[in-house]
Amino acid sequence: MSQKPANLLVLPGDGVGPEVLLQCRRVMDWFSTHRALPLTIDEAIVGGASIDLHGVPIRPDVLQKARAADAILFGAVGGEKWDHLPLAQRPEASILTLRRALDLYANVRPAKCYSTLVAFSSLKPEIVAGLDLVIVREGTSGVYFGTPRGRETSKTGEVFAYDNQYYSTSQIERVCHFAFALAGQRKGRLCSVDKANVMETGALWREVFNRVAKAYPDIAISHMYADNCAMQLVRNPKQFDVIVTDNLFGDILSDCAAMLTGSLGMLPSASIGTLRADGQRCALYEPVHGSAPDIAGHNIANPLAMILSFAMCLRLSLARPREADELEKAVEQILSDGKMTADLCGPDQSPTSTTGIGDALLEALNANAIKK
Ligand code: NAD
Repeated sequence: MSQKPANLLVLPGDGVGPEVLLQCRRVMDWFSTHRALPLTIDEAIVGGASIDLHGVPIRPDVLQKARAADAILFGAVGGEKWDHLPLAQRPEASILTLRRALDLYANVRPAKCYSTLVAFSSLKPEIVAGLDLVIVREGTSGVYFGTPRGRETSKTGEVFAYDNQYYSTSQIERVCHFAFALAGQRKGRLCSVDKANVMETGALWREVFNRVAKAYPDIAISHMYADNCAMQLVRNPKQFDVIVTDNLFGDILSDCAAMLTGSLGMLPSASIGTLRADGQRCALYEPVHGSAPDIAGHNIANPLAMILSFAMCLRLSLARPREADELEKAVEQILSDGKMTADLCGPDQSPTSTTGIGDALLEALNANAIKK
């Protein structure tokens, strides 16, 4: 990798967002110092904090910084204080604006079950122990974006509503290419999920996926209908390596897969965009959880989803897979040492604070670095 510093934009947001990002920044600084990873880190205000200061959830200059960044680390936004505002003016509009403006078409959600957290899953330990899968969800098209959509009243006075599931060849192609490349970096298995049996968009999805597959002869492919996939995720989730699917099915299946692993405080995500002229992809990394106003300000939030999002950034944006492994290993290690925030503790355990998790992680990284 060239020595040109990677330009990262940090957007803490509201509630626990700033708390978990603070610990993440300590980890980022550690890698910058100890792993010759030159980083330029800029920080900006979004969400409710931006509404309070500037009257809008995200300012145009912040959007501009986001466009220029090599990667964005996003905390979380939202809170009751702003819930009375119209949807487009609420804190949550900042993340939707970023996704749209940066064309973040591939939403990547890993579901990994850490051995120490097996008991937190709603499924039997033998079903989830060792689980490690990734769902790639198309994020900028499909039924959530298709037009026409709306609500009307018929001549007989009946109200009806409609949405439009829309996909073009190029939209399917680019997310499939991304998923094939990701499968190539993992166990080399990719399952495409659709409803090709009953939906036109499903039939097109399958056709395009099969065409793209020809460029990746080393990847073992399979197809699954979305309803069967939901069933297989709870029956035998370890059969999957990478799943690629559309926006609607991905939304539902990724939440289902996430819960196999037990805790919201452990789930990272990435949203990847198109290649820029400089060869870098726009990418945004964030925990799956929200701003958790009920626990904000108490130094008890689990920062690991945010920190594991940085591990994804190391792998997907900064081309540092070894460092990503190193960070994930340190996370696994502190969990097995019993260092856990309250959301992961049983009744007989004493929880570690948010800051304490940051301390433990740096200690583990330092100790492992000495062993090397
Ligand atoms: P939430 O994810 O914030 O919280 C759900 C539950 O999980 C709460 O009990 C919370 O305490 C717990 N939790 C969440 N993160 C945790 C962590 N890191 N450690 C320990 N426990 C954690 O979801 P919610 O309560 O539905 O939403 C709260 C606010 O967050 C709302 O304003 C919502 O709109 C917003 N939100 C933002 C995002 C985002 O910024 N991308 C995503 C989802 C929700």
